[in-house]
Amino acid sequence: MSTGSAAAPRRQGRGVPAARGGRRAVFADRDGTIIEDRHYIADPADVALIPGSPEALTRLRTLGFALVVVTNQSGIGRGLYTLADYRRVAAETDRQLKRAGIVVDATYFCTDAPGGDPRTTCRKPSPVLYRQAARDLGLALAGSYFVGDKLSDVLPAATLGGTGILVRTGHGASEEARAREDARATQEAGTPREARMAGAAKVADEAETADEASLARKSGREAGCLVADDLAGAAELIERLES
Ligand SMILES: [Mg+2]
Repeated sequence: MSTGSAAAPRRQGRGVPAARGGRRAVFADRDGTIIEDRHYIADPADVALIPGSPEALTRLRTLGFALVVVTNQSGIGRGLYTLADYRRVAAETDRQLKRAGIVVDATYFCTDAPGGDPRTTCRKPSPVLYRQAARDLGLALAGSYFVGDKLSDVLPAATLGGTGILVRTGHGASEEARAREDARATQEAGTPREARMAGAAKVADEAETADEASLARKSGREAGCLVADDLAGAAELIERLES
């Protein structure tokens, strides 16, 4: 684990295979994906589930996926709120999900502020927390799904061999627009990150018309992603891809 980061896996009673390459997971971002993005949430009173998100998680659990929340919490690294604040918000999120009938397998968070060493930070799109989750819970990263409202949530799919799904809640709609703009701006040449974002936008464009299952497989190889309106839409898409 890199300096300045922290992870708090909370194992639940459900058994997961101990072997590497075991159970597949849906890795879901928190803010803007499961709960409303209230911009550096530090107060449990600000936690509000996005409508349909607990039902979506339940649907994914029924399909047999492990459910792992992976969240960047740079507000801690920036000094905007404390680790204790984060834990209170996380507990309230879990409480509301549990009340709606779903308990996730684990939650991992990264406290790093942006601008750290990209080789060591746990901040998404770093694969660090996903790999830790895979070790802790015996998960197969290849074939897993990476869902969130920012490209940094879906780009790890390219590194780890899964499928990314950008949701349009939270920052998702603007991220989609930005990715499409980047795709145009970097058509000739770009930095690796910009090129990956361009790839994501390219596949998202195609997803509206072409065969989605084929695109999902392609996305695992080429850093693309699919797009859904929200987590409920992502769950529906995953169910179709898995059928
Ligand atoms: Mg988010």
